[in-house]
Amino acid sequence: MTRNRAGCPDWCRGHGCALGEHRAHPVRLQLPNGSAVLTRVAGRATQHAEVRLSVRLPADDTAAQHRLLALLFQLQTLTATLPEVSS
Ligand SMILES: [Zn+2]
Repeated sequence: MTRNRAGCPDWCRGHGCALGEHRAHPVRLQLPNGSAVLTRVAGRATQHAEVRLSVRLPADDTAAQHRLLALLFQLQTLTATLPEVSS
């Protein structure tokens, strides 16, 4: 990770650095049934992707619960298929 004179990675937007983490500008993605905001965040030793996901749910409560379960399953599948990262 390349750092500038202030000690921030080149991609850091410069907010919250004094709190011990560096954050990139969030990237917003419009989805067919919602939206996602992806932000790169680096701490002292590791970095991660912060993902905020908003998905419309059906009005029917049972259908909404099924959608939530499907989301949990898909999120597990998504992160399980990513290659391991060594720190
Ligand atoms: Zn920073």
